[in-house]
Amino acid sequence: MPDFCDVALPVPLEMAFTYRIPDNLMPVVGGRVVVPFRQQRMTGIVVELHDRKPSVVTKNIVTVVDHTAVLDETLLRLGRWIADYYLAPVGEVFRTMLPLSAEFKRVIGYRITEQGHMALHLAGMSGSPARSQRTPDEQAAEFRVLDHLAASEGAFVRMETLRSAVHATRKILDGMVRKKWIGREDVSDQQDATRTVKIAVLKSAEGKLNENQQTIVDTLAASGGKAAVAILQSLEVPRTTLSTLVRRGLVEIIEEPADFTVSRAKPRPSPFDFDFNADQKMALSRLNDAVNAKNFSGMLLHGVTGSGKTAVYLAGMRSVLAAGRAAILLVPEIGLTPAVAADLHQIFGDEVAILHSALSDRERAEQWHRIKRGDAHMVVGTRSAVFAPVADLALIIVDEEHDSSYKQEETPQYHARDVAVMRAKMSNAVVVLGSATPSLESYFNAKKNKYALVELPDRVESRPLPEVEIVDMRLEFQETGREQVISRKLAAEIQERLDRKEQVMVLLNRRGYSPVVLCRTCGKKLECQNCAIALTHHKREHKMVCHYCGYTTAVPKACVHCGSEYVYFLGTGSEKLEELLHGMFPQARIARLDRDTVRSHEDFERTLSGLNEGELDLLVGTQMIAKGHDIHGVTLVGVVGADVALGLPDFRAAERTFQLLTQVAGRAGRGQTPGKVILQTYFQDHYAVQYAAKHDFIGFYEKELRFRSWMHYPPYSALANVLIRSDKLDDALQWSGKLGKWFDATRHEGVRVLGPAAAPIMRLKQDYRYHFILKSPSREKLNTTLRAMLAHAGEQKIPKTHVIVDVDALWLM
Ligand SMILES: [Zn+2]
Ligand SMILES: [Zn+2]
Repeated sequence: MPDFCDVALPVPLEMAFTYRIPDNLMPVVGGRVVVPFRQQRMTGIVVELHDRKPSVVTKNIVTVVDHTAVLDETLLRLGRWIADYYLAPVGEVFRTMLPLSAEFKRVIGYRITEQGHMALHLAGMSGSPARSQRTPDEQAAEFRVLDHLAASEGAFVRMETLRSAVHATRKILDGMVRKKWIGREDVSDQQDATRTVKIAVLKSAEGKLNENQQTIVDTLAASGGKAAVAILQSLEVPRTTLSTLVRRGLVEIIEEPADFTVSRAKPRPSPFDFDFNADQKMALSRLNDAVNAKNFSGMLLHGVTGSGKTAVYLAGMRSVLAAGRAAILLVPEIGLTPAVAADLHQIFGDEVAILHSALSDRERAEQWHRIKRGDAHMVVGTRSAVFAPVADLALIIVDEEHDSSYKQEETPQYHARDVAVMRAKMSNAVVVLGSATPSLESYFNAKKNKYALVELPDRVESRPLPEVEIVDMRLEFQETGREQVISRKLAAEIQERLDRKEQVMVLLNRRGYSPVVLCRTCGKKLECQNCAIALTHHKREHKMVCHYCGYTTAVPKACVHCGSEYVYFLGTGSEKLEELLHGMFPQARIARLDRDTVRSHEDFERTLSGLNEGELDLLVGTQMIAKGHDIHGVTLVGVVGADVALGLPDFRAAERTFQLLTQVAGRAGRGQTPGKVILQTYFQDHYAVQYAAKHDFIGFYEKELRFRSWMHYPPYSALANVLIRSDKLDDALQWSGKLGKWFDATRHEGVRVLGPAAAPIMRLKQDYRYHFILKSPSREKLNTTLRAMLAHAGEQKIPKTHVIVDVDALWLM
C-alpha cells in the first residue's frame, strides 16, 4: 500500500490535500475517506495514491468509507472536466456528484482538560468559585459541564448530549474552550444511513386497558400484531398512550429497514397503446441505430408540442434495457409528478430509479446505491441525475433541453445538458436532446452537424396545431378607455368554451395579487429591505412578499417614505387574476397553479388530475401550467402579460418569451377538438410574439441568430458573468474597481470585457452587486482570462466567496 493519498475536499480551494495512510487502512481511488481538515472532519474523494513524501507535515486519514470506488474512472474524469470548464473547485464538484451526505454524520464532542480538572478541584476546596465577571448562573452552568465531563472519565461527550444533560448554552461551552477548561473536537464519521421505521409489536393483550389503550391494542391485533408507529400516532388517542403500553410491557417498539415506497398512482394509457406515426418510427430507428453503433453521437429531436417525443424516448430506453445496458432520462423538475413516476414503473418495473427533489437525503442515497449495484438500469431524474452511477451507459436523453432548471445556480454552476453531452462522449454513448423549442445553442450545433437533427413536424394522429390570435392591448385600451386584464375577445372566447363544457387555461407569469405598491404623493415604491426589488402584495396571506429573498412585511396603510395615505396597489398577479375570473364567470370551477398554491408534487398533481377528470373548467397559473402536460379537454389557452420579460435587460429575453408562448400554446387542442390560443400583448410587432403565433421556430431562430451574431452573444461566443458582491457597498465598489483596473491594464487577446457595472438587480439578499460580462469566440481564451482574474483577486485578498464566476450564464440580472 502506498504511504500517501491525495484527497479532494468540498472546500473553495482548487487543490487536493495530501494525507498519510495508516497501516491498517486501505483507501481506493474514487472512494471516500474521512480526514481532519482545519478544526473539522470532512469526507473527501481519494484522487491519487502515491509515495511522494510532501515537504509539509501530513495528518492521517481517520476512516476509509468505501472499499470500492463510488466515482468510477469516467465520473472522476467528468468531475475534473466540470471543475475545469466551470472554474469550480473539484472537491465541490465531487460532492455535487454524490448524493450521499446522509452517510456522514457531523458530531462535535467535548472532553475535560487538566485545567478543567484543576478548576473543578479549586472550586470544591474554597466552597465558592473565584471572583469573576460571570453571573452566578453562568458559573453554575460551567461547573455542571465540568462535573459531567469529569464523570465520563476523559471520554468525548457529544455536544447534543452535553447540552441536554446540563443545560449549557453554546456560548458557555465556547467560553470554556477559550479558557482551556475543556477541549472541543470534531468527531464526525460515517454512519449507517439505512432508513428505518419504528414498528410497534403487540406482546400481550392481558390486563385492564382503558379506552385509548384498547384502541391501540385492537388496531395492532387487526393488522396482524404489528403496525408502524406513525400509523398508531395518526389514531385519535393521546401520544402518551403508546408509551404507557410500552412501559407495561404489552407493546414493544422495534426498528426495521424501510421499504422504498414508489408511487402507485392509477395507471394511465401507456404511450405504446398508440401506433407510432412515420416520423416517430423514423426517429426511433435512428436512435436505435445510433445506440447499436456503440460510439458517441448526438441527436437533436425537434418535435412540435404534442408530437409524441416522450413515446420515442421510452421506446428507445426499452430497447436499451432489452440489451442489458443502461439509460438516463433527464426531465425538468416540474415534469416528475407521481403520475409520471407511476407510468415509468409500469413500463420498466423495478428496473427504474427515480431521482427528484422531494426525496430525503436517505432516500436519495438508497436510490444511488440501487443504481450503483446494478439493480436499476433505467434512471429518470432531474438535473443531478446526470451523475447517476450506471455502468455500461448506452443512452442519455435530455427532455425539454432548453429548460433553465438544468443550470445549477450555485457552485458548481454546471448545465446538466452540456454535462450530459460530455458524459456521453466519455462513455461512447448516445445523447438525445429533445424540445419543441430548442435552445439557440443546441439548434445551432445541430445545424453545424455537431448533432443529427431529427424533426417531428406534426402532432400525433394528425391533430392540428392550435390557431393563435393576437390581441393588441394598446388598441384595447384606446377602445375601452381602461387598462384591461382580460380583453373583450378573450372573455367572449372563455364564455364560449364554458358553454360548450370545454376547458380553458389562462397563463399569467407573475404570482401574487399586485406586483407593485406605489405612493401617489411621493412616487416611491415599497421595496424589499434586502433587495432593490418591489414587494408583491399577497392578498390571501395578507402580506407583502419579496419574490427574491422571501422577506415579508405587513400590508402598508400609509406610505413608508412620506406617511401619505395615498398608496396604490398596481398591476395584476395570478392571485388577482383568479379573483377577476371568479367575478366574470361565477359558475365556472376555477383553480390556480403557482408557487403559492403548489407546495409539493402532490398538490401539483391533484390540480392537474382535477382538470384531467373534468372537475375543473378553468385553470389559472404561472409558467407551471405551460410545461409538458397532456390534458385533452383544454381547447382554449389565454395568455395574459406573458411578454413582460421582453422589457428586461437580458439578451435571452426574446428567446425565453418565444419558448414560453410556444409551450403554453402547445397545451391547447391535444384531444379530439382543435385548440385555440388568445395571445394578449403590448408588443404585438415583436418578432418573438409574431413567430410564436405562427408556430414558426425556424423563423424565430434565424432572426434571433442574426441578433446574437451582431452582438457577439452565444452561440457565436462563449460568455461568462463575473459577479462581485458584498453586504458592504464600499467593498463591492472597491473590489470591482480593482478588478476593472486589472482588466484594463492586462491584454486579453480575443476576449471582450464589459464592466464593471451595477448588476440590473443591484441589491439582492442584502448584497450590493456589480458585474463584468466576458465574451470570447474562444472558450479556451475566455477560461484563461477568468483563471488569471481569479488569481489576481486572490492576490488582492478579495475573498473567494465574493467573486462569483458563472460560465455560460443563463441570467445576467
Ligand atoms: Zn410617499
Ligand atoms: Zn428581498
